[in-house]
Amino acid sequence: MKYYIKTFGCQQNHADSERIEADFKARGYTKARSYKSANYVIINTCMIRQTAENRVYGLVNNLGKIKQAKLKKGEVYKIIITGCMIGIVYRDKTGKYLKLLKQRMHNADEFMPIEEVGFNLTPVRTDKTSAWVPISNGCNNFCTFCIVPFTRGREISRPYEDIISECLELKKKGYKNVMLLGQNVNSYGADLLVGEKNIQVMRDADKTYFDIEKAKGSFLRNSPGAPMGVWRSKKTMPSFLKNVKPVYVKHLGRQRIPTLFPHLLNEVAKMGFEKVEFMSSNPWDFSDELIDVMAKNENISRSLHLPVQSGDDAVLKRMNRWYSADEYLVLISKIKAQIPNMKFTTDIIVGFCGETDKEFQSTVDLCKKVGFNWAYVSMYSPRFNTAATKVFKDDVSHITKKKRWLVLENLINQPQLKKSKIH
Ligand code: SF4
Repeated sequence: MKYYIKTFGCQQNHADSERIEADFKARGYTKARSYKSANYVIINTCMIRQTAENRVYGLVNNLGKIKQAKLKKGEVYKIIITGCMIGIVYRDKTGKYLKLLKQRMHNADEFMPIEEVGFNLTPVRTDKTSAWVPISNGCNNFCTFCIVPFTRGREISRPYEDIISECLELKKKGYKNVMLLGQNVNSYGADLLVGEKNIQVMRDADKTYFDIEKAKGSFLRNSPGAPMGVWRSKKTMPSFLKNVKPVYVKHLGRQRIPTLFPHLLNEVAKMGFEKVEFMSSNPWDFSDELIDVMAKNENISRSLHLPVQSGDDAVLKRMNRWYSADEYLVLISKIKAQIPNMKFTTDIIVGFCGETDKEFQSTVDLCKKVGFNWAYVSMYSPRFNTAATKVFKDDVSHITKKKRWLVLENLINQPQLKKSKIH
């Protein structure tokens, strides 16, 4: 039996696909070169924008012909859908989204939640120099435009010692670069508080995701099969944690250890990789400790992705982003003061609900002040179930969105493209 995996979307999805591949290999299946030569086609989906979703529908429809031909010949051909779209199905208790997917993808045989794959498998990596290492999954921030908290669920941190041992293993195998991945790496460990508090966090977690009693038992038994979000052992906790008091983070509504990600990053950087990167970190909880760690480890990338989304305070508020434009600029200056050669990339949404010309101009002004090296500029599109879809109107016309998109492309990305052609 042969499998073929198609991945849409971000690095996190690609990292997930490496574990899906490990799962299929473990069943004794081999990799197919194309959709045609496969028996199992696994499509790892993205929903960040409507266009990403439409590409999945298009692909599944196109695979219909191959499927019919294979079935006629008596061969096995199964189309398995996983990733973000199935994350929604998993969490939408009304069943509406599943119904919609079944209508739009009648060729699909199975809808597989990514949670079935888990973190425990050793990923099958094709790149032999650079590796993605997931450190958490999900997000608790609920930016009003974003579907991630619905597709991936609440934030669950991967056990600290698992990340460390995976990185050590990569170093041993000769990998030169690692990228630590999470929806918001800064809040890594918010759910890794020890003892009762940890179990409390597990109770808060998405109930369809965890068997609470099992999680609790695993914690108490210190089992190697403990699920994500549980310390394997108090003994393996970094010793500095014993002196650190968790802080209460208002917008998360829970406690977290603020220095855990800087500590993790520092430990990985000290392993001696040529480059250590991380993605993504948010401006509102980018700590001074993190800047210190980046400054003192020169192998931590000098290109930092710091999503701003908008340069206007009112828009940021509507987006439920926890910083103002000025706070973002102060953070950039702080980083530049300690790491003068740092380059910045960002994400920006144009045409978010109610965005006026003046509000858009604030974004242009902020971009000019920062001097981004690159920006992923997208035109706002409403996403299923998000607060923006329920509360606001998508009232900026497509033409205006396109014009604003062009302004930022010409300001930020076109000059960079020209520069890269010259060199
Ligand atoms: S921080 Fe906001 S934009 Fe990023 S994944 Fe979470 S909800 Fe989405």
